[in-house]
Amino acid sequence: MIKLRDSLPFVCLIFFLCFLHCSNNYQVNQSPGKSAVQEGEKTFHWPDGARAAVCLTYDDGIDGHLDIAASDLEEVNLRGSFYAQGSSHSLAERMEDWRALVDRGHELGNHSLFHPCIRTMPDEDVHEWLWPEYALENYTVRQIAAELKIANTLLQAVDGKPERTYAYTCNDHLAGGESFVDEIRPLFTAARTGGDNIVADMQTLDIHLVPSWGVVDVSGEAMIDFVKKAEGAGTMAVFMFHGVGGGHNLNVSRESHRKLIAYLDAHRDRLWTGTFAQVMDHVRSERHRLGF
Ligand SMILES: [Zn+2]
Repeated sequence: MIKLRDSLPFVCLIFFLCFLHCSNNYQVNQSPGKSAVQEGEKTFHWPDGARAAVCLTYDDGIDGHLDIAASDLEEVNLRGSFYAQGSSHSLAERMEDWRALVDRGHELGNHSLFHPCIRTMPDEDVHEWLWPEYALENYTVRQIAAELKIANTLLQAVDGKPERTYAYTCNDHLAGGESFVDEIRPLFTAARTGGDNIVADMQTLDIHLVPSWGVVDVSGEAMIDFVKKAEGAGTMAVFMFHGVGGGHNLNVSRESHRKLIAYLDAHRDRLWTGTFAQVMDHVRSERHRLGF
């Protein structure tokens, strides 16, 4: 019979070998390479190593979008998002041109039928250009949702697309004093609002309230600085244009527009410029992957 005193060295050896094995495993799991990969897998990524995304969006469905803005974009093979209200004269009169715009890869987005907005501001300032019939303060949530649904049907008849994004008219989210954001979520893959800022954080972003900068009479350099801010944050910069080189009472010069576009073209390696629908599709899929 083996006595405990005789077997002690053997038992110690077994414990020592176990300790070596466990400590080796610990070192493998804690190696810097493995940690970096795990960290990377948990981080929001833009396609092809881009550091930020940029969306160029154009509101109110005017001829200048077809003739000037889209042409500037296509010169460097970029695409934009064009938000036309159902009551747009250009959409009615040049429907084939709008259809062709989508066929060339641009996005036609929902901007309501009648472009309703809050007409009387809290400070009593009144948007005289808006018919009182289309004052959002006199709408109901159900009424604006029904209008936006019909606008989706109208736009689908133009371009055949079953999915749509929305641009809030005048950045307003209240109908009859009540938020309609939740009511319209099922209608749109994403929605753009104002706020004049970049997206602060991709994880906490509400994809139906994506901020944008409404640019009016600003320089190309100022717009480039806005893009650099998004690049620094690793998020996205959304521009809200109206007229480019005229055609609206809210305009940016064609020179400034082209300057921004030239910058985006020259930095494709780190800036992904896509339509709002494309970029937001990626955002939704990354957030799903990361479990946000
Ligand atoms: Zn508008």
